[in-house]
Amino acid sequence: MGDYFQTVVDRDVTEADAAPLAARVVAWLVAEGVIGPDRTEPVLGRGPGYPPGPRIREVVDSSGWSEPWQGGALHVDVTRTVFDAGQWADPSSARCPRCERETEFHDEAWQEIPGGWAPFSEAIEDWEAGAEALVRCAHCDASSPLVDWSGMGHCFAFGALGFTFWGWPDLTPAFLAEFDRRLDGHRTVLVSGKI
Ligand SMILES: [Zn+2]
Repeated sequence: MGDYFQTVVDRDVTEADAAPLAARVVAWLVAEGVIGPDRTEPVLGRGPGYPPGPRIREVVDSSGWSEPWQGGALHVDVTRTVFDAGQWADPSSARCPRCERETEFHDEAWQEIPGGWAPFSEAIEDWEAGAEALVRCAHCDASSPLVDWSGMGHCFAFGALGFTFWGWPDLTPAFLAEFDRRLDGHRTVLVSGKI
């Protein structure tokens, strides 16, 4: 299960505040025994991450996992990142924050609807480059920031701070709620997937 990952993404933190906030959250996780203090655990394609700590079992639901299992590294990103659910991330639609209507990306046969995804694809590129990245709604004609569109959360999340747990069973709701509090009550999205 080493390729399964879950990322807690902070949607609200600024790029300037991301690193100090990450340091506070890591200090909390180390103090709780959820992770070890030193980056010694290898991460696929990245520098080493934090190893799981002695109390990992208290923050996950491992009921569906066969014993013995071993969690992998925690990797922390502190720069503007598009967090995706892996190569199969393919959202079906997105919801306009103004009129709350759906823009569909595929028809019933899962064929791409022309022009549906393109504005989002362009906005993602703009956002990664540091721009505001507005997407115009085909229903109400209002332009809204990419990050305010909803419904893509299981595939994509946009933020300057993300905590990726590699090979951990599902994080418990109680742990995720405490995580949100430690992120100063910011809006968060949980992205999970496999690579
Ligand atoms: Zn709209």
